[in-house]
Amino acid sequence: MKQGFLRIKRILLGPKNREFSKKVEELSGETINLCEQCGTCSGSCPLVGEMDQTPSLMMRMVQLGEEEVLNFKTFWICASCYTCSVRCPRGIDPSKVAEALRQLKLRAAIDYLDLSKIGEEEAKILPQIALVAAMRKFTG
Ligand code: SF4
Ligand code: SF4
Repeated sequence: MKQGFLRIKRILLGPKNREFSKKVEELSGETINLCEQCGTCSGSCPLVGEMDQTPSLMMRMVQLGEEEVLNFKTFWICASCYTCSVRCPRGIDPSKVAEALRQLKLRAAIDYLDLSKIGEEEAKILPQIALVAAMRKFTG
């Protein structure tokens, strides 16, 4: 077997992990422990190619209470198209989990979109409705 293909990380679950999982469950309204890691959400997601990590890995990280998931781009890319929600054999809605993670980031006042970085010329050609929608979705 080729070296370097297997990534094993030892995770020690403590009260902080449980607290994080619980918080995401509260915000999303989803029972995250029902996820059986079948990968259907990842295989069905039309935007998985744009994501840095798959929706099923996002779910697993939340199950484990790993706050590192907040560094994923996955939940910002999720377009809430509900394909995964319709197909999940456990009746979970990963898009609600993605929404909960966005909320956690925004509540911490970590804005994904920095309006000051949009140049004057760029701002002139960007559709106003897209700017307003992005501000609602990506700023706290
Ligand atoms: S489809 Fe459902 S059960 Fe399967 S990995 Fe995704 S969230 Fe988990
Ligand atoms: S709701 Fe989000 S994660 Fe689920 S299939 Fe659509 S884009 Fe992918």
